[in-house]
Amino acid sequence: EVVDLGLDWTAGFSTLGPAFFTELRPTPLPEPYWVGRSLALAREIGLDEGCLYSVEGLAAFTGNVPVAGTRPLASVYSGHQFGVWAGQLGDGRAILLGETASGWELQLKGSGRTPYSRMGDGRAVLRSSIREFLCSEAMQALGIPTTRALCVTGSDAQVVREEIETAAVVTRASPSFIRFGHFEHFAANNRVDELRALADFTIDRFYPACRNSGRFGGNAYAAFLEAVSERTAALLAQWQAVGFCHGVMNTDNMSILGLTIDYGPFQFLDGFDPRHICNHSDTGGRYAYNQQPNVAYWNLFCLAQALLPLIGDQEVAVAALESYKTVFPDAYAARMRAKLGLPGAAPDDRALIEGVLKLLAQEKVDYTIFWRRLADLKAGGDPATVRDLFLDHAGIDAWLQAFAQRHAQVTAAQAAQSMRSANPKFVLRNHLGQQAIESAQKKDFSGLATLLKLLETPFEDHAGHEAYAGFPPDWASTIEISCSS
Ligand code: AMP
Ligand code: MG
Ligand code: MG
Repeated sequence: EVVDLGLDWTAGFSTLGPAFFTELRPTPLPEPYWVGRSLALAREIGLDEGCLYSVEGLAAFTGNVPVAGTRPLASVYSGHQFGVWAGQLGDGRAILLGETASGWELQLKGSGRTPYSRMGDGRAVLRSSIREFLCSEAMQALGIPTTRALCVTGSDAQVVREEIETAAVVTRASPSFIRFGHFEHFAANNRVDELRALADFTIDRFYPACRNSGRFGGNAYAAFLEAVSERTAALLAQWQAVGFCHGVMNTDNMSILGLTIDYGPFQFLDGFDPRHICNHSDTGGRYAYNQQPNVAYWNLFCLAQALLPLIGDQEVAVAALESYKTVFPDAYAARMRAKLGLPGAAPDDRALIEGVLKLLAQEKVDYTIFWRRLADLKAGGDPATVRDLFLDHAGIDAWLQAFAQRHAQVTAAQAAQSMRSANPKFVLRNHLGQQAIESAQKKDFSGLATLLKLLETPFEDHAGHEAYAGFPPDWASTIEISCSS
């Protein structure tokens, strides 16, 4: 028995050969059911929407029946976890189905044990699968580079975590799932031929301009490192500007394409706290919100170290990382200017940005609500809606005055429009995800579908859905999200 999804499959990652992966089949789950799907992504992939409702599609995307034209595999990688070399890791619970002719790798996450599962059971729980599904699609809609999620299927099969939960599979999609850790793996094992093959594969497919960029005296591997570093810098600027905390920025969770990958204990900030730690397991705060840009840079050093045998010269490798120090702050400033509705840059913008962040941090003002209200204020709203977010009225009044001065040259309607498209009304707050999860655990998937719809167009007003855009309830701060998923 085989299911034909009607997709054209091509050989991509698998052309690298057996040193990079193990072929295997997913482990079936009993009596699966549909939990959620992204029709937007189905269209992008070229998958018939009917497959996301059919019995055949359900079997295929749970891993219960082979998909015609695919040879599933799990890839090997290594990495640094919490700053420490962790040795071999790999796809311990994700199985790559294959690559579509439309350029998407499809991966089943939670589809059973692999040779890289170590102590794990190869499964994912419904809770974390829903979080990954929703956040992948939410990030995409926010314009933030990310791996995608096509669908989630569930089963009543039990999975033991801190509590007993039920199993689920999320079908992820990305042009590539290659991580920094893939390169670290072959470097650490002195397998330079494989390291070169992997770098050449990645450059040819995703960074072809590095072949003749002329950077670093024509050293394509150095140009590649620089390009990855700059994409990563741009990504981090977007995370910081939107208030996204990743939670586990280990080098095996860093995409070589500069995508957000591995949605575990992530969180969108509620109140603005630069030192916020979203991962309950991160007792030292290594991955606190305000540490993320530096940690990304640290991770890029690990990648540079891994690429050193190809680059050939340590000074060149270090030079390839240099631009991170300007690309990140420039990209971040540009994002913050967009949030402020400022066309072009002015010398005082930095003070304006730092000034408001200081006020927000002083009282842990809700980050998303503040920015959206500021946009609404520009559209002619009542200043009290912004002022009332602060106890320090004098502070915010002075800042609003400086803000108005900077805006003197800008037409209000134009500024309001651009601010509303830079400041989302809806983000995937922990408590919103939690409500959708608790309904889904009772087999009511309507809340999940509603939330997805809002997150797919987060800059629109969606009248009647104010409850999804309000302050988090008190219980939101008691939600503990750890690495266990
Ligand atoms: P993460 O913390 O999600 O980045 O995962 C780190 C490593 O642990 C990766 O190699 C994962 O594939 C693996 N892993 C995480 N959870 C499981 C699980 N339940 N079963 C097998 N491997 C897992
Ligand atoms: Mg991971
Ligand atoms: Mg994970």
